[in-house]
Amino acid sequence: MSIKVGVLSLQGAFKEHISRLKECGISAAEVKFPEQLKDIDGLIIPGGESTTINKLLEKYKFKESLDKFYRDKNPIFGTCAGLILLAKNIEGEGRGLGYIDIDVQRNAYGRQIESFEELLDIHLDNNKNGSKFKSIFIRAPKILNVGKKVRILGKFKEDIVLVRDNNVMACNFHPELTRDLRIHRYFINMIKNIKGDN
Ligand code: GLN
Repeated sequence: MSIKVGVLSLQGAFKEHISRLKECGISAAEVKFPEQLKDIDGLIIPGGESTTINKLLEKYKFKESLDKFYRDKNPIFGTCAGLILLAKNIEGEGRGLGYIDIDVQRNAYGRQIESFEELLDIHLDNNKNGSKFKSIFIRAPKILNVGKKVRILGKFKEDIVLVRDNNVMACNFHPELTRDLRIHRYFINMIKNIKGDN
């Protein structure tokens, strides 16, 4: 089954996600306007600045089409600022899009470690025993709470860093900035499984 993955390309690290998807042998497209959601099978919301991306989502009138894209069970993956936008609650700021039942706090890892590289423990479906994933945190948000239905797929020490609920996946780090394609491949398989052989 051939699929096309879109990357929301209003601000932030969208080009890196496009490169990783292409390395996975998948057709990838920049999404700059809501109409383009009709042409894709899954969407990545990249890292960047969540307040800026949010303003641009409003400016380009994305909300209604994005809600429909989510309700139609299309897979969505948010990284870092993308995770913040997908959250149900952003501490001190109010509601996010609410597509995944998590509470997050922006910039929660403090200034002295604004950017750091760590080995995470990940538990993707095809690897029940878990393995390590080297990744980069940049002014990362913290996941404070997860709802009962949310599956935890990755942790950094005690912190939850990679989560999934049905068609929505989110992480607070940047898998697109390393050459390890496992998380992108997982998302691609998630799209293939959810969308069946359409
Ligand atoms: N600190 C940014 C925000 O609050 C997120 C950082 C990132 O995406 N790397 O939106």
